[in-house]
Amino acid sequence: MDKIIYMDNAATTMMEDQVFQAMKPYFQEVYANPSSGHGFAARPKQAIRQARQDIAAFVNARPNEIYFTSGGSESVNWAIKGFVGSNKGKGHHIITSKIEHHAVLNTCHQLEKEGFEVTYLDVDEYGSIGLDQLKAAIKDTTILISIMFANNEIGTIEPIGEIGAIAREHNVVFHTDAIQAYGHVAIDVRDLNIDMLSASAHKCGGPKGVGLLYVKSGIEIGSLIHGGHQEQGKRAGTLNVPGIVGFHEATKLAGTEMTTRMGKIRELRDYLIAQVLDKIELAYLNGSPVSRLPNNAHFCFDYVEGESLVVFLDQLGICASSGAACESDSIDPSHVVLAIGRDEDLAYGSLRFSISERTTKDQVDYVVAQLTSIVEKLRKMSPLYQVTIS
Ligand SMILES: *Cc1c(COP(=O)(O)O)cnc(C)c1O
Repeated sequence: MDKIIYMDNAATTMMEDQVFQAMKPYFQEVYANPSSGHGFAARPKQAIRQARQDIAAFVNARPNEIYFTSGGSESVNWAIKGFVGSNKGKGHHIITSKIEHHAVLNTCHQLEKEGFEVTYLDVDEYGSIGLDQLKAAIKDTTILISIMFANNEIGTIEPIGEIGAIAREHNVVFHTDAIQAYGHVAIDVRDLNIDMLSASAHKCGGPKGVGLLYVKSGIEIGSLIHGGHQEQGKRAGTLNVPGIVGFHEATKLAGTEMTTRMGKIRELRDYLIAQVLDKIELAYLNGSPVSRLPNNAHFCFDYVEGESLVVFLDQLGICASSGAACESDSIDPSHVVLAIGRDEDLAYGSLRFSISERTTKDQVDYVVAQLTSIVEKLRKMSPLYQVTIS
């Protein structure tokens, strides 16, 4: 058994060796600024051009519709603030959901302070956006719909094609936070009527600190960083060449291996879910049983706290999560788990495993056995549980 059993791939992924090797020359051998005019800049310049072309093709976009950023949070902030800032003459209403990542939610909260109106859509018990509710929320003043492709906590994949069609029909621009989906499920921005899309390299086997924003040509968004002419003058600053090369390599790997990898991961994930629900009483699966990220298993357990489970699992070298990584300092129950209708007590009992192609069946068996005994031990100490079962 490896020292660390890593089941927190929704927080970040291990960088593939192939990705690391591809990045290496751009730190020391060919470190030229791709914007320079000399021949030494040719290789980094060509690497960026190829990355943009292949990454665009991966989501069926055009190269000039891809802007490289410092990561998912930046892309989301830019998409939403940049778009509404340039289009407030057309309206001031934004539609999003209650289960978005805080990159979206806190951006929307900030915009509310600046005078924009935001509707936060409810979700059903599986975490899916109701399409009728979305249609009903659209008004004359609606300029933007931002709904995540797949949820980072409970793994639900939203009906993106249907949302895109509704947005198109009502002439409203549609942005999706696809940070959990990119490299994990097939994305075709034209098929799905997606106008803007955010992705991040470190969630799909690439390096941290690099992401992308796709903006369909013809859609106006304001510049994020003023300065040089990089990224069509909209995001100035010397390009993160090794990072973009790493993102490119991770994308190429996803392009060739995604289907087989995800098939294998999904099978193991289904086994993990079945084992947990079989071995542990008063355990509930969160998120959709069908429309779900292949690597995600998310549960609520009665009479135990998710935080305690994470701590006890950690002592055994098992990495899991009781909420989003960026939220685990907070003691509030997850806004996502509350939004799917779990009561507050149960929401405190949340636990997420997000596996990868490196996860083995032996690891799953070990984790489920350990989790089962930890839950039993903790429940024995819970007076409420003792009263309930007696
Ligand atoms: C990780 C994540 C983000 C933030 O991406 P960073 O690259 O870490 O800034 C935003 N949205 C979702 C759904 C995520 O999972």
